[in-house]
Amino acid sequence: MANCVIVGINWGDEGKGRMVDLLTERFDVVVRYQGGGNAGHTVINEYGKFALHLLPSGIFRKGIVNILGNGVALDPENLWQEMQTVSAQGIVLSPENLKISDRASLLLPWHRDLDELEEARLGDKKYGSTKQGIAPFYSDKYQKKTVLAGELFYPDALRAHLSDLLEWKNLTLTKVYGAKPYTMAKLEEWMEAYCEKLKPYICDTGDFLRSAQMKGKNILFEAQLGSLRDLDYGIHPYTTSSNTLAAYAPIGSGLPSARLDDIVGVVKAYSTCVGEGPFVCELFGDEAERLRRAGAEYGAKTGRPRRVGPLDIVATRYGVQVQGATELALTKLDVLSEMEQIPVCVRYLVDGRETDRFPFPAALGGAKPVLEYMDGWKCDISGVRRWEDLPEAARRYVLFIEEAVGCPITYVSVGPERDSIILRGRNNA
Ligand code: GDP
Repeated sequence: MANCVIVGINWGDEGKGRMVDLLTERFDVVVRYQGGGNAGHTVINEYGKFALHLLPSGIFRKGIVNILGNGVALDPENLWQEMQTVSAQGIVLSPENLKISDRASLLLPWHRDLDELEEARLGDKKYGSTKQGIAPFYSDKYQKKTVLAGELFYPDALRAHLSDLLEWKNLTLTKVYGAKPYTMAKLEEWMEAYCEKLKPYICDTGDFLRSAQMKGKNILFEAQLGSLRDLDYGIHPYTTSSNTLAAYAPIGSGLPSARLDDIVGVVKAYSTCVGEGPFVCELFGDEAERLRRAGAEYGAKTGRPRRVGPLDIVATRYGVQVQGATELALTKLDVLSEMEQIPVCVRYLVDGRETDRFPFPAALGGAKPVLEYMDGWKCDISGVRRWEDLPEAARRYVLFIEEAVGCPITYVSVGPERDSIILRGRNNA
């Protein structure tokens, strides 16, 4: 039996969806263990192109059981709509291949309202939220002011619980933000429209996972976003509101006793960052626009242009360390093919001193990138499938990163399609 986690090493959007889609072949179960509909995994396969927000990326393979664990921000409206979209594209979803934890908290309609209201209140100091209600949801979860999915099976108790929450939440909505209050009728309409539809999929997924583990099944845990967005270890306060690290996978999945045999960190061949906050290696102007266009760097959920920069060794090494990555997948190497010289951020300059340590969040704003340039390869590599067929300059770039961040790169991705991949060593040799 092998348990594996796929995590983002940087700011998110590293291409995790593509890697999960590739690796699911070897697994029996795929679990999402944190986050919600605020980011998107893009997957391109024989069924078409998909931007998955909540559904685990294993739904495209027959025979795989996909789980939304208790750590996820379960947005019934988004999830139901996403289920409709993928079903319309030919994917068969059923309680056999999709299971929702009865311990997952429901993201309620007011969470999205509060996200918007708070971003508006912050004005130009906004966090750059995707306004999907994730931060208000997790704050309520930790205040124990959410409803668990399994409560849908106890309608009387649920009604009383919702009514208490409604009274409490309306105080914030009306008295803090001057917004309109919710009514029980509105909540009931929402429950009928979305939650009722999800009921057949809700079960004790912890029980299912324990039994899968006992039967020696292979379990893949799928993370959202990346190390630098982790609530505890990221670039606070420009993080997400959940733990994006591999260490959280056992807790958020429903299998707290899980041992993680392999932690695959996904790193993009250059850097991107969505939203606000310090991004030390950021490029601007034409140089940035060329890279953004080459990599089609626009948010999967929001369509927002992503901030771009060269690969950041300082942040990536830190990301690898906090994830405890055992191997890396380097994605989008093909995007750099046009570049004559490839910049890499090798150190930071902080208070006039060069450092290769990732600074404390409050010191990040003053950090400047120290760049080195590597030779480009100036040819199309998207058709390459063997390591030895990559141009030497491309191999040098990969080996340089591997050495600098201290973790083997076992996959090199040269295109978005499932088979645009070069396998290197370790499990893949
Ligand atoms: P995720 O959230 O980490 O899954 O990342 P996103 O889906 O936001 O971003 C990855 C994007 O890059 C998607 O559009 C993928 O189809 C695409 N992609 C992934 N790997 C490669 C690659 O090696 N080359 C190219 N050109 N595109 C890739």
